[in-house]
Amino acid sequence: MKFHQRTSEIYIPDTVEGDIAFSRTTHLAVSAHQDDLEIMAAAPILECFQNEQKWFSGVVVTDGRGSPRNGIYEKYDDEEMRRVRFKEQRKAAIVGEYAAQFMLDYPSKEVKSNSTNPVDDLVTILEATQPQFVYTHNLADKHDTHVAVALKVVEAIRRISKENRPKKLFGCEVWRSLDWLPDDEKVLFDVSEQENLQLVLLGVFDSQITGGKRYDLASMARRRANATYFESHEVDLKTGLSFGMDMSILIESDNLDPAEFIQSYIQKFSQDVSNRLKRVR
Ligand SMILES: [Zn+2]
Repeated sequence: MKFHQRTSEIYIPDTVEGDIAFSRTTHLAVSAHQDDLEIMAAAPILECFQNEQKWFSGVVVTDGRGSPRNGIYEKYDDEEMRRVRFKEQRKAAIVGEYAAQFMLDYPSKEVKSNSTNPVDDLVTILEATQPQFVYTHNLADKHDTHVAVALKVVEAIRRISKENRPKKLFGCEVWRSLDWLPDDEKVLFDVSEQENLQLVLLGVFDSQITGGKRYDLASMARRRANATYFESHEVDLKTGLSFGMDMSILIESDNLDPAEFIQSYIQKFSQDVSNRLKRVR
């Protein structure tokens, strides 16, 4: 498999041959940074864990060079930081028993540009893995690089012939939760089980957590909060929920503008708020 960046990496935790690792993939998640996969795609990781029929593969698009650093990592230069973040991502792939972990190693700047190199690489991965389900950042995320990655994913899938495309494309939560989506528009990912594994998957990213951001606690807390605040009239049946946005229509209708697509959801949110006010006034 050939990618544009010479320094890109493919890591296969159980060391089977590439073709075997890729073709067994059923669930593929594509994120901007190391640790985003474990924050946003815990549900498919757990669904595929210890399951011979379902396999999760992850793609991280950026190189981790620009990461904030603190504590024992404070004096690390960009290259050392990149190596640490790659190492952490490999650890997560081992814990989560991923089919394969791709690290495309692009500077954020290139991802946010109109470069088509990341799109080419994603097409290569999609063709080799042929996943049924694809997960990426949602288009209302507030991190530029996240949204840029989501757009590249849509572009890549649109380059593939319709019959070979994934069945579903989901937008997931990292820098902005999806609590604002009207309930009947939310895709619910139950992450009530195996909190132990979820904690480890988040916890291996020490450079970010020690770096001053408790993404581990915050992500677990968001899952709990999503579950509790989802249903106001029922007792908690789930103890962990992640919300997703169904973005599949973007890979079914090639002419649909992603900006128009996300605006339609924002309009639904706006309508939901207005309707409630009218109702109770
Ligand atoms: Zn990120």
